[in-house]
Amino acid sequence: MTDTTGGRRILVLGAGYSGMMCAIRVARRSRRQGGRVTLVNPSARFTERLRMHQIATGQRLADHRIPELLDGTGVDFVEGRAAGVDPERREVRVETGAGTVTLPYDILVYAIGAATDTRAVPGAASHAYTFDGAGEAGRLAKRLAEIEPLGGAVTVCGGGLTGIEAATEIAESHPGVRVVLVSRDVPGAMMGDRARRHLDRALERLGIEVRAGAEVVKVLPDAVELAGGELLHSDACLLTAGVRVAPLAADAGITVDERGRIVVDGTLRSVSHPQVHAVGDAAAIRQTWGNIHGTCQSGIPTAAYTADAIVALLRGRRVKPFRFGYVHQPVSLGRRDAVIQFTHPDDTPRRWILTGRAAVVYKEFVSGSPVPTYRLTKRYAGALVWPRGGRRTRRPVTP
Ligand SMILES: Cc1cc2nc3c(=O)[nH]c(=O)nc-3n(C[C@H](O)[C@H](O)[C@H](O)COP(=O)(O)OP(=O)(O)OC[C@H]3O[C@@H](n4cnc5c(N)ncnc54)[C@H](O)[C@@H]3O)c2cc1C
Repeated sequence: MTDTTGGRRILVLGAGYSGMMCAIRVARRSRRQGGRVTLVNPSARFTERLRMHQIATGQRLADHRIPELLDGTGVDFVEGRAAGVDPERREVRVETGAGTVTLPYDILVYAIGAATDTRAVPGAASHAYTFDGAGEAGRLAKRLAEIEPLGGAVTVCGGGLTGIEAATEIAESHPGVRVVLVSRDVPGAMMGDRARRHLDRALERLGIEVRAGAEVVKVLPDAVELAGGELLHSDACLLTAGVRVAPLAADAGITVDERGRIVVDGTLRSVSHPQVHAVGDAAAIRQTWGNIHGTCQSGIPTAAYTADAIVALLRGRRVKPFRFGYVHQPVSLGRRDAVIQFTHPDDTPRRWILTGRAAVVYKEFVSGSPVPTYRLTKRYAGALVWPRGGRRTRRPVTP
């Protein structure tokens, strides 16, 4: 199962936070083993998902090009969308601008991320905006500019961290828009009391109307319907609650969980197809303390680990299980405020928080660090330090 040069063909699907890290690191570290790495992504622009709320409010961001980020790594970039995986033949069908190509692999890394589950709310697929790509976020930016002079209303569905970042960013940058945040629980329910108090003050200061304990059951062209029948007039609805992974792996017969994420063993290889590794939001990963939920904070470590695991396998070495613990929940509250909730490895809140200017700087460091990390990885791919949490993560993982 090698290419004509005798090297192993490593195919990475998805050039988001995890796929980029995995491709660059495995290319750097498998040179002596003759690893040939190909990275597939629908766009040549690197999407900074962490900054979707900034795009949605019309901010201009740096335009990071994937071929430029890969320059000097030896990674082949294919601009296209993976449309089918054949695990028996070890091939992936990719739709590109120039037609369909078939890419063979010896090792597949599944890093296609997750998207908002618009199927969960009737009407959302047709009438709600999502943060599933820069194009989609850009469309919301246009809509906000249209509705602001008319005093329009936007409804943000979901009081998790993405919903909070979106609502505060919109309210700060579009003071003429009425912002309603609909949340099943209190917004930021996963944070500690001190962080939530700061958050509540920010929501109030920005004039955001919070509908806590409410559930959106339908999205209409000009309103959202709450459980119980109440209609909230809405000129734009942003859905941030609930994610799922495209059915690429499921359609290929690879074992997935209820959200379409590949179920992996302790070394992040598919339990049904061990030549398939899964990382980031597209992987269902279990640790001793519970399940990892999709974040960049965990995605990049899964990718760096997988790159190293592949190199170890190529060298015929034993692979130690993946271990990870969270360290923080960083949340921007517009451009001038933020709150950082420091956490235990299982993501439950510690006592410590950071707010105000220091938190803004901290959050910007978090959002801006992936691209410099890739540039660094091109030159240095030695032992990485990433958030590993405390004692509880040192026990062996249970797949
Ligand atoms: C507004 C917002 C703020 C966030 N803030 C934080 C934060 O502060 N900290 C944090 O840790 N996390 C944060 N997150 C979550 C974080 O962005 C995700 O967990 C992270 O992007 C997951 O990385 P990934 O590589 O798995 O997926 P992604 O970064 O989503 O990348 C997936 C890539 O795969 C590509 N792809 C999809 N389908 C295919 C296909 N069929 N073929 C080929 N390629 C494909 C996509 O185009 C994309 O480039 C935030 C998310 C949002 C939306």
